[in-house]
Amino acid sequence: MAESRGIITGIKDETPNTKTFRVKLDKPINFLPGQFAMLCLTIEGQLVKRAYSFSSSPANPKDVEFTVKRAPDGKFAPHLFSSRINDAVTVEGPHGIFTYIDNSARDLVLIAGGSGIAPMRAIIRHILEQKQDVRIQLIYANKTLRDIIFKEELDELSSANDNLALHYVLENPPSGWKGGAGFITHDFIKKRVRDFSKPLFYICGPPPMVQKMIETVTRLGATHDRIKLEQFN
Ligand SMILES: Cc1cc2nc3c(=O)[nH]c(=O)nc-3n(C[C@H](O)[C@H](O)[C@H](O)COP(=O)(O)OP(=O)(O)OC[C@H]3O[C@@H](n4cnc5c(N)ncnc54)[C@H](O)[C@@H]3O)c2cc1C
Repeated sequence: MAESRGIITGIKDETPNTKTFRVKLDKPINFLPGQFAMLCLTIEGQLVKRAYSFSSSPANPKDVEFTVKRAPDGKFAPHLFSSRINDAVTVEGPHGIFTYIDNSARDLVLIAGGSGIAPMRAIIRHILEQKQDVRIQLIYANKTLRDIIFKEELDELSSANDNLALHYVLENPPSGWKGGAGFITHDFIKKRVRDFSKPLFYICGPPPMVQKMIETVTRLGATHDRIKLEQFN
């Protein structure tokens, strides 16, 4: 595990409450897609650390991205949101077993809620950059259309790559919306994933959603050894 001093080199607004921070590290962190790091800042004289998944692929281990949703009344995220280009942040990692290992499966079903897209983006980008023969289905839930993080990028990647299929689900969809509406249900998954015996399932998001999705895919036939999960608590 490495501790690296980082400098913020880019800040991008993704949605009204989510930003992607690009960080240049003084030492590389060799992570697997899906893993996370501890970001460390001194806030009011105290060292504060929080876990954030790498949202970039591991292709540039000295130039990494984190995609952060601002928690209302949170301690760390609002402070990070007030950062500027060239501010320092310490990055410790890699951590976690929510990993995609090359050649571990031909079929992936990624189920994400909100900022749970961060590690999924790292996995998707890695597989597409490496031109791996892996079929990816992303089922991605949000409250509204404007909450979908990376929508433009995901749509472009899907148009350019036959092996990436996207299934958006919105709790409050706009009129004329053609994707899923409400929450991700048993039937919604069943219609899109035909064979539950082969894919690896990755589930990431808020704990209640993750728990619900484990129950759902298990009922549909996914075995525990083929389900990986990360809860953003
Ligand atoms: C493995 C892992 C990976 C993660 N990756 C990401 C990621 O990629 N992107 C991302 O956005 N997040 C991620 N998270 C979540 C992240 O680590 C933080 O928990 C999140 O950003 C909130 O931190 P905060 O300091 O801003 O809020 P905190 O100060 O920790 O507060 C969080 C929430 O709890 C409420 N709260 C705080 N104290 C109390 C209290 N005493 N009583 C009641 N409510 C309270 C606050 O209002 C706030 O809404 C990840 C978490 C884990 C475990």
